[in-house]
Amino acid sequence: FAINMDQLHLDEELGKGNYGTVKKVLHKPTNVAMAMKEIRLELDEAKLNAIIMELDVLHRAVAPEIVEFYGAFFIESCVYYCMEYMDAGSLDKLQGGGVPEPVLGRIAGSMVRGLKFLKDDLQIIHRDVKPTNVLVNRKGEVKLCDFGVSGQLEKSLAKTNIGCQSYMAPERIRGESQNNLGTYTVSSDVWSLGLSMIEMALGRYPYPPETYANVFAQLTAIVHGDPPELPDSYSEDSRDFVARCLRKVPEMRASYAELLVSALLGVFLCILFPMRHVSCTFVSSALIAARVMHSLRLTLPLRLA
Ligand code: ATP
Ligand code: MG
Repeated sequence: FAINMDQLHLDEELGKGNYGTVKKVLHKPTNVAMAMKEIRLELDEAKLNAIIMELDVLHRAVAPEIVEFYGAFFIESCVYYCMEYMDAGSLDKLQGGGVPEPVLGRIAGSMVRGLKFLKDDLQIIHRDVKPTNVLVNRKGEVKLCDFGVSGQLEKSLAKTNIGCQSYMAPERIRGESQNNLGTYTVSSDVWSLGLSMIEMALGRYPYPPETYANVFAQLTAIVHGDPPELPDSYSEDSRDFVARCLRKVPEMRASYAELLVSALLGVFLCILFPMRHVSCTFVSSALIAARVMHSLRLTLPLRLA
């Protein structure tokens, strides 16, 4: 069935991104709470129709690690996109405190499985892996959203705002991985995955803007500097997992299959030596962070099995 605006009751705003606003909505015919993203685009009707058609692929993106897509429509020059509402928000809300190792492991496992599903089953490269695009619900499920499926939409979104937090791999910053067909390699997403893991562990973006004179200096550090590392407080296995995501040369980075094997090993270690992780610092000032954490910790023993 096709969703339209008349069926929706608008609730509170969930957040704002570079390209639009996300609101919580109630789909009245089914009584399902959804998240609706509004993207303002200055495009003609034909192009807007093309975007809606391209987004249709998302109906096939059904997996436990992928935010469910309900439908999209446009009104005037705005595209509206309805997806599963994730009631514990996005991982960027975990600012300020180190995420305990088992939780980090669960997040990593879900992200790798989600990315592998997109690549293997749908031949989709995410292209925008970062903490705000990883969502959590109170059941403790971790799911990916905002992956690139519409060429027309990608083209239309102004690339002016690279932002002060770039999760782009060094080769993407240098512009090498964009071949004639305009495709990225999957290993660029692996870099962004590693960087997101470090952000979870540090509780802040790994290349803090205040340390650099300007965005150029910051991007130079990503391209020419040593990659960041997981702090010493994490186990050797976890540090190795992240290091293999953050190799500067894309061909040297681990594949999803390799990462899954290490994630599984890590899970076994957690079960065998649970005491090792009990002392992990877990300080979080924001209430919302506590909520996300709670969701993740609650289901921990269950999901590790
Ligand atoms: P960018 O515009 O660079 O992609 P972003 O991912 O933060 O940044 P949006 O995708 O517009 O921007 O999302 C804005 C915020 O809305 C997110 O940070 C997230 O916290 C929240 N959000 C997005 N989708 C959902 C959802 N399905 N359920 C709950 N909250 C959501
Ligand atoms: Mg997003």
